Amino acid sequence: MITVPFHHDIGVVRVFLRFSRAAALLICVAALVVLVGWWWQWPLLTTMWPGQPAMTANAAVGFVLSGGSLLLSQHPAPSWSSVGRWLSLGVLALGAVTLAEHLWLVDLHIDHLIAALSTRDPAGWPGRMAEPVAAGFVLLGGLGLLLPARRWQSLRDALALGVLAIAMSGLASYGIALAGKSAMSFGRMPLHSTVLLLLATLGWLCAAPTLGLTRVATADTLGGALARRLLLPALLLPAVSAFAFELLQSWLGLPEALAFVFVALFSGGAVAGLVWWVATLFDKLERQRRESIALRNDAGTDILTGLPNRRALDEALAGLLRGQREHDTTFSLLMLDLDRFKTFNDDFGHLAGDQVLRITGHLLRAALRPADMAARYGGEEFVLLLPGADVDGASDVAARLLDAFRDFAWPHRKVTVSIGVAQAVAGDAAEDLIRRADSALYDAKRGGRDRVVALALPPASRAGTYPRAALGP
Ligand code: GH3
Ligand code: MG
Ligand code: MG
Repeated sequence: MITVPFHHDIGVVRVFLRFSRAAALLICVAALVVLVGWWWQWPLLTTMWPGQPAMTANAAVGFVLSGGSLLLSQHPAPSWSSVGRWLSLGVLALGAVTLAEHLWLVDLHIDHLIAALSTRDPAGWPGRMAEPVAAGFVLLGGLGLLLPARRWQSLRDALALGVLAIAMSGLASYGIALAGKSAMSFGRMPLHSTVLLLLATLGWLCAAPTLGLTRVATADTLGGALARRLLLPALLLPAVSAFAFELLQSWLGLPEALAFVFVALFSGGAVAGLVWWVATLFDKLERQRRESIALRNDAGTDILTGLPNRRALDEALAGLLRGQREHDTTFSLLMLDLDRFKTFNDDFGHLAGDQVLRITGHLLRAALRPADMAARYGGEEFVLLLPGADVDGASDVAARLLDAFRDFAWPHRKVTVSIGVAQAVAGDAAEDLIRRADSALYDAKRGGRDRVVALALPPASRAGTYPRAALGP
């Protein structure tokens, strides 16, 4: 069985890696801005949006570590990428300790630890990060630790999906807080923490673009193109819908039922848009495929008669000879030449001659079994390949063809054909077989035309020395 290796689109792989680095930098910068906000007690920098929950200082430290780890993970020097893994371990520990504090209601003073780095009064520090952010850190830390290990792809993907679920729930529920229906968003998770979690997960996934979940998104196949177009919109659609639902009510003052209708319409439209996008992609690829098939066929087809041309004949003949060599299969070749065709052209014109060639194409096609092949060899010369036919079987076919030509109601005047038959023998090259059929055809012409000459095939005879058997009119 032939297996086609998995190919990645190198351009896309580069974009993914670049995105990963950009995400890491953005995460570090945003988290540092929040830390500066805590240091100087500027609430605008810690909340990024007036009236919203602040990102806690220890969450900001976690993001700096995670972003740093992501950045270092791509460093070519192993020592730097191992520093990156230590940072991820720090992220995991930070999240785990905070979760433990939440779950068992103990105070390990992880926030004070960070506050202690400051000379300022710890009372002004923000306390614990929200549970979902802590859980997100545990998963992100795990992601960073597992990234280089090829063996743990499924676990890595599961962790990434876990963080994505947290981030998407946060995004979707944030609209509710925005509309003032609830004091806090999902688990008190600030919006910028949510966005950074989302960015960090995508960054980690894109850091190993040829493995796991991202593997198909970088493939240079239709599946890859679809994944690149659809995954992110599909991920963001519910969150955008939830935002829109609340914004329509709180900002535009629409009643809930009306807002719902609009959001339903928007979601339907968005899904339809995605389907349309996919459909156009499929359509384009299918047409390209058909064009390439048509081009391939064109290259092997004679325009006038619609029969396979010399090139297609050469390929088919090579295949049959291979089968004969390897599996000792039998086949025969017929060489046909229209009789006194030059005078037909001279008498009735070349257009009438072309018409005769087209009719010849029809007659040959009609006489063949599905496995046979009739090809236009040259001007008014044709070759038939008859797999499985020995010289006697091929002579019968040739005799039937003579009859078909004789019986056809030709325009202007009768057209007859002369046929040479040769069976392939062991050791034949394509030229040997054609030369023998051609020589039999020459005999048929010399014998008075409108006849078949076949080279009989005695068991031990050598090519070119066979006795000839003529089938006359
Ligand atoms: P013979 O019985 O010995 O074969 O006599 P002939 O006149 O058929 O001789 P030959 O096979 O050499 O003739 C070839 C002629 O076929 C020459 C040319 O006018 C004609 N011919 C070749 N290709 C085409 C074509 O594409 N269209 C037309 N109309 N005529 C063609
Ligand atoms: Mg000829
Ligand atoms: Mg001829």
